[in-house]
Amino acid sequence: MNPITPIINGLKITLSHLFKKPVTLQYPTERPKVAQRFRGLHALNVSHNKAKCVACYLCPTVCPAKCITVEAGEDANHDKYAARYEIDMLRCIFCGYCVEACPVDAIRMTGEFELANYRRQDFVYSKERLLEKK
Ligand code: SF4
Ligand code: SF4
Repeated sequence: MNPITPIINGLKITLSHLFKKPVTLQYPTERPKVAQRFRGLHALNVSHNKAKCVACYLCPTVCPAKCITVEAGEDANHDKYAARYEIDMLRCIFCGYCVEACPVDAIRMTGEFELANYRRQDFVYSKERLLEKK
């Protein structure tokens, strides 16, 4: 084999990559488009201006990481609601079981993946923070 041939083949490969779209993104100025089924940060759903959660305890029961805390309350109409709802994102494994288990479609997972924070307590998402999520 001509000793120049491998060099030419290598150069051909290098040149072909010069004209391809790069697979990397200039994050954070360029944002990745997450898949529709991506399981990111949770959000609580709202109906008639209040959280849909009826504090049935199914999601904390099914959660394999045991990172959901629910405390039930009772409103003036004797309807149950989540007086406290918290998810510890440091323990969550983003399995989506909580979403599957919910009988009233009160919780969903968003495309939000930037969960970095400075303090441990900031990883605990309260009901109020989860209601704000789009
Ligand atoms: S996604 Fe999985 S680990 Fe995270 S809160 Fe839901 S059930 Fe628990
Ligand atoms: S989010 Fe759904 S499954 Fe979890 S406690 Fe509320 S109603 Fe039950």
